[in-house]
Amino acid sequence: MKKIAVVGAGIVGICTAFFLQRSGYKVTIFDRESPGSMTSFGHACTFADYANVPVNSPSLFKSIPSMLISSNGPLAVNFFYVLKNLPWALKFLMNCRKDKVEDISSSLANILHHSRLAYDQIFDEVDVSKHIKEEENIYIYDSKKAYEEAKFSTYLRTKNNIKVRELSKKDIYQLEPNLAQIYHAGQLFVGSRHTTNPLAISKKIFNSFLQKGGNYINQNVENIIQKNNCVEIILEQKKIEFDQIVVCAGAWSNSIANMVGENFPLDTERGYHVLFESDQKLINRPIGWSQSGFYLIQIEEGIRAAGTVEIAGIKKPPNKHRLKMIETQARKILPKLGKVKSTWMGRRPTLPDSMPVIGRSKNNKNILYAFGHQHIGWTLAAVTGKAINELVKGTQPNFDINFFNPSRFIK
Ligand SMILES: Cc1cc2nc3c(=O)[nH]c(=O)nc-3n(C[C@H](O)[C@H](O)[C@H](O)COP(=O)(O)OP(=O)(O)OC[C@H]3O[C@@H](n4cnc5c(N)ncnc54)[C@H](O)[C@@H]3O)c2cc1C
Repeated sequence: MKKIAVVGAGIVGICTAFFLQRSGYKVTIFDRESPGSMTSFGHACTFADYANVPVNSPSLFKSIPSMLISSNGPLAVNFFYVLKNLPWALKFLMNCRKDKVEDISSSLANILHHSRLAYDQIFDEVDVSKHIKEEENIYIYDSKKAYEEAKFSTYLRTKNNIKVRELSKKDIYQLEPNLAQIYHAGQLFVGSRHTTNPLAISKKIFNSFLQKGGNYINQNVENIIQKNNCVEIILEQKKIEFDQIVVCAGAWSNSIANMVGENFPLDTERGYHVLFESDQKLINRPIGWSQSGFYLIQIEEGIRAAGTVEIAGIKKPPNKHRLKMIETQARKILPKLGKVKSTWMGRRPTLPDSMPVIGRSKNNKNILYAFGHQHIGWTLAAVTGKAINELVKGTQPNFDINFFNPSRFIK
């Protein structure tokens, strides 16, 4: 039986291990933290199979001056960080051209169309039904101008067969009567769903993996050595050989790629959540407040306001100003919110073209990559795991992953 290592027990690593184990491989997951506890813990809970529109956008050029001056918008950039990392920023901007954005959104839509089925294959075996709700996700816009500006995104969705239903102010009120009526109009994403407890889902899939004989090593992967017919993982006090390794280390994946001599332009889009107390049900579904770039979601622990983007690197501590902005805006749109229970910052792994890297390493035949899922890693985890499983078996998935080939960055 072939031995496969999965580095990273975020949702991408957990789902990847699930599919590999189901194919009969002997799988070991490595993580220095506890499973599902990093970026996959605190997100906005949406299975966003409609989210094919990248942050890269032709309209971003216009917003750059305001982003540099104010950190109150949905997207904030740390000027000094960007200055130090200019090549990444320039590559990101190159992907904001209209034709590029159209290509990216088609590639993402292509894989997103398979994301629900892939999860359902896991959920058929692991019962997570009590943590999943079918009420469809919505975006709401504060003004006619904001609503009109979203037309390009709507075009990118409908062009790629993603079903969007327009919502009037009255429709929104009927769906979500507790929202302050400071919105102009909105959109509902037909057929979308969400979770009320991402950590419980990650843990249930992970525990089922363990029960079926999977291994877990709770240690930092210090180094990886590519040998002739196998690959070796170096831990603090131990070395273990595997036939193949899959790198699913989220925002930290490039430091692992560096161990085998490859370098990806991977950066992070930091995002935050504020968790509010709530002893009653105030909202029925994830509500995206476009003005501030976060969702409000009623979860098992309370109401979470999660989202926003901050480009400031992986190391800086959380920015309290961003958390305050989220709290203030959340209270504006949902005045009945209770006290703040806790706050969180997470690091979305993002490449400059907003597409993940899914595929075999160009130079190391026993290493595969599955990272860089930016805003939609929760949604794409299962379909990514399915694709990696096919590659390990030496076959191809029945959907196109060529756009996500690692060799687009490795010369
Ligand atoms: C505010 C916010 C809202 C979001 N909302 C959504 C949403 O609604 N829907 C959606 O689809 N996505 C959403 N996302 C994106 C999603 O959360 C991420 O894309 C996804 O969680 C990434 O999963 P991952 O498994 O790649 O990374 P992670 O969950 O970060 O896991 C990577 C793991 O690798 C481990 N690791 C790294 N290096 C090493 C090493 N050397 N040795 C051992 N272990 C290592 C880490 O400890 C970590 O556990 C959101 C993100 C944020 C920040």
